[in-house]
Amino acid sequence: MQNLVHKDFRNSFVNNFKGDESGDLSPRQTPGVLYSKAIPTPVKQPKLLAWSQDLAAQLKIAMPTKEDIEVLSGNKITASMYPYAARYAGHQFGNWAGQLGDGRAITLGEWESEKQKWELQLKGAGPTAYSRRADGRAVLRSSVREYLMSEAMHHLGIPTTRALSLVSTGEDILRDMFYDGNAAFEPGAIVLRTAPSFLRFGSFEILAAGKEIDNLEKLVHWTIDNYYPHISGENKVLEWFKEVVEKTAFLMTEWQRVGFVHGVMNTDNMSILGLTIDYGPFSFLDDYDPNFTPNTTDLPGRRYAFGNQPSIGYWNLGRLASALLHFFDETDELEEALSSYENIFWQHYYAMMGRKLGLDKVTETDKKMIGRFEEVLGTVKPDMTIFYRLLIKVTPEMQKEEILNLFAPSFYTKPEGNSKMAFLDLIQEYAERIRSNQISQAERKELMEKANPKFIIRNYMLHQAIEELEKGDNQLFEKLQAAMKNPYADAHQEFFKKRPDWATQKAGCSMLSCSS
Ligand code: AMP
Ligand code: MG
Repeated sequence: MQNLVHKDFRNSFVNNFKGDESGDLSPRQTPGVLYSKAIPTPVKQPKLLAWSQDLAAQLKIAMPTKEDIEVLSGNKITASMYPYAARYAGHQFGNWAGQLGDGRAITLGEWESEKQKWELQLKGAGPTAYSRRADGRAVLRSSVREYLMSEAMHHLGIPTTRALSLVSTGEDILRDMFYDGNAAFEPGAIVLRTAPSFLRFGSFEILAAGKEIDNLEKLVHWTIDNYYPHISGENKVLEWFKEVVEKTAFLMTEWQRVGFVHGVMNTDNMSILGLTIDYGPFSFLDDYDPNFTPNTTDLPGRRYAFGNQPSIGYWNLGRLASALLHFFDETDELEEALSSYENIFWQHYYAMMGRKLGLDKVTETDKKMIGRFEEVLGTVKPDMTIFYRLLIKVTPEMQKEEILNLFAPSFYTKPEGNSKMAFLDLIQEYAERIRSNQISQAERKELMEKANPKFIIRNYMLHQAIEELEKGDNQLFEKLQAAMKNPYADAHQEFFKKRPDWATQKAGCSMLSCSS
């Protein structure tokens, strides 16, 4: 165990690539470089609000001292750190947006331990060359959301960046939460987040767009050597792209499994390692609605709605493939690799749904039933999390009344008429299928409990926890932090409830804007 201030950073990214070393924080285009040096802007009164003990143990970092908290808030940079903001571009809502870059993220440094690379990055530590017209800061509200949700996703077993600490800054920031002209001051905060790398699809897109071929070649090979070291041979770039396709397809099925909606799947928010990255106006589904988007900026198109995520994953991979065209004389193989996404996705998807439904295997008939689950759930719109946990309790002997009683706690609207019939038919079909399962009831239960979380952090819970934290009360925050560490346990009865009525209409409890 070592204190953060004593950690010896190696910084292979900045040592390998061209950067703008001026330290100039004024917003600008920085062609030809991959990063710009950015010293965090100090804050008044840093206070540690949360610390991820198990991540710290993995990183072998000791409990923070007062001096460490200065690092976590951007007030102190140690000798071996090299703080920088990365340059990248992106397609936002389907349109090329040009240079974006880390406008409010500053990487402090990286090191390698037990063959695993770690990059440490502050989010909200002040302006960088890429802040454009914004302030480089993050509000407590969005920082609590990123801190809790990225850790929650980790404990759900879903690839994600992680968060080590949450610090309040003692400074207020002006934000227009709903972009409606009602700006207000909100408390500021900083999250220290970690990942093996924060490189995005957009990190490659910007080099291809600017025809910075030397930089592009170097970045692609460096990425492969460092993060995909098992890839060798003639067709390295192709093999690598195939793995990114695979990881992205897998991530999409994992989001579908738990009902996670990212909300801003722009190519600058797509990790090259297939991690969930850049937590903004995300949400879990409450009622099962494939059309749900938590992002007010995403209306009316609903490009990033729950049910669209897999096809957006594919679209984004298409943008990455375009950025890699330089490496190919003929594009056939690259196109083939891209179009393999669909098959790979469905394979992962059916395997995942098989586990969610507790099936011994997934046959062609089962695939049809899975399709009907999608259809009927989309009509009845029960609470997704509650529905799947209750499904564990279904037995082949159950009668219609019993079925309706069992699922009653999951209905926002009690199904009537045709949708009631369709719902009962589906559950009875499922019950019949369970009868022929080649695994025991106990095994089915175990399989389903591992695939269907009992606890998810819902937006209204975050909203409440944040409101209380702003008043200095951390009870709910602590409760959520404890519960998220064990999301599949048959516990959490207190939180095993539908979204309450009051939260349906309340601002910030269902939909959020990007400034969240
Ligand atoms: P996002 O979609 O939230 O990941 O952010 C899109 C772009 O806006 C990125 O380049 C961010 O760094 C930048 N950005 C978002 N909020 C701020 C802020 N408060 N200050 C500076 N840049 C920001
Ligand atoms: Mg982003």
